Amino acid sequence: MTKVLAIDVGGTKLSYAIINDNGEFLSEVKKTSTPKNIEELVQTFKNIIVENENDIDMTAFATAGAVNIENTKVDSSTPNLPKGYNDIDFSTLSKKPVFVENDANAAAWAEYKVGSAIGEDNNITITLGTGVGGGFIVGGRLLRGKSGRGGEVGSIKINGRGRICTCNRKDCWESYASGTGLKKTAEEVAIGDEIIKTSIYKDKKAQEITTYDIIDGLKKGDEYSKKVFNIWKQDLITGLLNITNIFDPETIVISGGMGEFIDTDEIANAVNNEIVVAPVKIKLAKAGNYAGMIGAALLACQKY
Ligand SMILES: [Zn+2]
Repeated sequence: MTKVLAIDVGGTKLSYAIINDNGEFLSEVKKTSTPKNIEELVQTFKNIIVENENDIDMTAFATAGAVNIENTKVDSSTPNLPKGYNDIDFSTLSKKPVFVENDANAAAWAEYKVGSAIGEDNNITITLGTGVGGGFIVGGRLLRGKSGRGGEVGSIKINGRGRICTCNRKDCWESYASGTGLKKTAEEVAIGDEIIKTSIYKDKKAQEITTYDIIDGLKKGDEYSKKVFNIWKQDLITGLLNITNIFDPETIVISGGMGEFIDTDEIANAVNNEIVVAPVKIKLAKAGNYAGMIGAALLACQKY
């Protein structure tokens, strides 16, 4: 049995546990806050590894940011992590092998191996949170591309309505289909549509209407909230439709906070009505909050 120390690097906290090559936890998940400067962060990584090194065969990190093709460094911007994060050569942190993978890719691998897409060699996991992330399994392999950065699905372009994304490009899918996108749609509809005049939010400033307000408005039968949510849902469907036509997956797994607000059957029907490939199933994620750690551990076992 191979034992992997799996570490999830989040902007506010680090989570870690020992996981075996079946994706089972052999220890409790421990957490510590993510240091704000790079020297402390590297020292914390080393401390966690030293504390566990005698009990493990290797270490696997799941992290924000695109990871190089060798799985040793992060080479895209990671605004929530300290300056200098991209200079860390993860392979130097331990005497034993160290593997690092993008957290969305790792979560997709976990859904494939122990979650909602077991045995389905063509599947995609889409994470709908403050942004939109994704991991693509093609023919039983994780799609990484020539540089390791493949699968950046949040940045595909849809609509052409001209919305500026947090990355400063126009019309990224994530600027529409994320939680942040729902809030932006709420603002646009509140400014541009008379429907706001009959809404329970008619006295709020457009930019103050939150994602939570819209979800709450739906439950209360508010027509403005329904209109906003339907636009958001159509934007979600447009992106899912595009990736389904390209990848012809068996399943698209939806993870992340926004997943709980959608009806997966309704979304699947809408997608399947317009695709030219075989019908796709849409399911909610099952690998849980630690999917990134599980996926990174299993990918590391495969590599070493
Ligand atoms: Zn963008």
